[in-house]
Amino acid sequence: MKALVKTAKGPGNIEVREVAKPAIPSEDWVLIEVKAAGICGTDLHIWHDQFPYWPPVVLGHEFSGKVVEAGSRVKNFQIGDRVVAEPHSLACGMCELCRQGRVQLCPDKRSPGWGIDGGFAKYVAMPETLLHRIPEGMSWEIAALAEPMAITVHHVTERCGIACQDFVVVTGAGPIGILAAFVAKAAGAGKVVITGMSACEYVRFDAAKALGADVIVNVEKEDPLKKVMELTKGRGADVVIETSGAQRAISQSIAMLKKCGKLCAIGLGANETPNIPWNQAVLKSLDIICCMSSGYTACDKALSLMANTDKDLSALITHKTPIDDWEHVFHELEAERGIKALFIPDPQ
Ligand SMILES: [Zn+2]
Ligand SMILES: [Zn+2]
Repeated sequence: MKALVKTAKGPGNIEVREVAKPAIPSEDWVLIEVKAAGICGTDLHIWHDQFPYWPPVVLGHEFSGKVVEAGSRVKNFQIGDRVVAEPHSLACGMCELCRQGRVQLCPDKRSPGWGIDGGFAKYVAMPETLLHRIPEGMSWEIAALAEPMAITVHHVTERCGIACQDFVVVTGAGPIGILAAFVAKAAGAGKVVITGMSACEYVRFDAAKALGADVIVNVEKEDPLKKVMELTKGRGADVVIETSGAQRAISQSIAMLKKCGKLCAIGLGANETPNIPWNQAVLKSLDIICCMSSGYTACDKALSLMANTDKDLSALITHKTPIDDWEHVFHELEAERGIKALFIPDPQ
């Protein structure tokens, strides 16, 4: 089968290759025929050698598909079932984090797409424990959004606990920022402000609006801190969800929060050690909540939210291509001329 492979360590080193159809490594795994697979910022980081990976490895950790083979110990899924999978393969099940249900943080975890072969191919193997059924009537394309949706559901609701009518600011209008705005609104936020740079005017701000953001701030044209203070009459935001990783946005997040507000950080910063107004955060008694990946409960909630929303999530999907177009699509995403791009495997 054709697959998009990171062939060796170093920047670049990605190509479409003919690889063997995967075999299930153990009787509690299934083989999934991939129907749609989303490209994530992580894939771009692996392209540029900025994220850990074990080459040669088939990329892709966000996918939907159909079970086509099930090991003899698989209990709850059958051939033909429509599924998505949490990307926490090889988590040990034994460590303190695994036993607490935080398998996403297990040090042994090797996710599809960087630790084991992933979903940018016709088939991918996954353990049964990580599967979730796609709700009836949901398209393969929308279902492929389940993993980033689960991340935002976990961070925004389970970790950060958005409350009824909270004033929420999302910094950064990339796919995770837009999804965070959508989830915050669905979780009961009163007003959601989303910020981004001029590049977001190409397609990202429109999608953010379509999915529920109330106020768009282009930080190259308007001061987001001033805007938030105006809108809250000097009180500040209840919650800031930081998804940009930008130094300026991180320090402004602290300035625009109310006393006892919450800063919810999703994703890595552009600098290893950003300058932040630490004393201001202390004097305001802020909660700073850092989040990484998502877990089982968030995945189910994400699928349920996606099935029940009246918003059109296809506003997020800007590209649908076969994997042969990977280079063009990766460049498009990097230039912020897209939001979520999906690989649709060749039907042959
Ligand atoms: Zn992802
Ligand atoms: Zn573990």
